[in-house]
Amino acid sequence: MIYTATQVVRFWNNVAVANRDQCWPWKLSQTSNGYGQLSLRLDGVDRVLKAHKVAWEIRNDVRLKPGIRASHSCDNKLCCNPGHVVIIATGMNLRIAATGPRGEKHGRSKLTERQAIIIKYKLGALTTREIADSFKVAFHTVWDIRKGITWRHI
Ligand SMILES: [Zn+2]
Repeated sequence: MIYTATQVVRFWNNVAVANRDQCWPWKLSQTSNGYGQLSLRLDGVDRVLKAHKVAWEIRNDVRLKPGIRASHSCDNKLCCNPGHVVIIATGMNLRIAATGPRGEKHGRSKLTERQAIIIKYKLGALTTREIADSFKVAFHTVWDIRKGITWRHI
């Protein structure tokens, strides 16, 4: 993962996560032009980041290079629903975005429905990290189940 589990949990706690298709507004401070912002310690340096870009980075497990712009398909600048964030990349930028560093997902697989059901049973007893490690999946995969963003129907 490009962000630590603690950073990911803290990030989503500051977002009004709703249904998959709805907007998820950022709850903390805003930039002067209306985007959600936060400060995060990355590689030992404190940085001020736009919330919707961090949401996209967490979901895709890709670090966007500085200067790559992201807009919203929903026109809601505070929205942190990764499905509403559109990366504006052309030419060189597009290649940089596509080849960004990937984290621990190498060798990690997607869940089967059977696994998702078992995870749901374990949510009450184990932490998100413990479950992710035992199933060898990314932290956010389990986090999404916990929040009801994925596998809602089972
Ligand atoms: Zn939205």
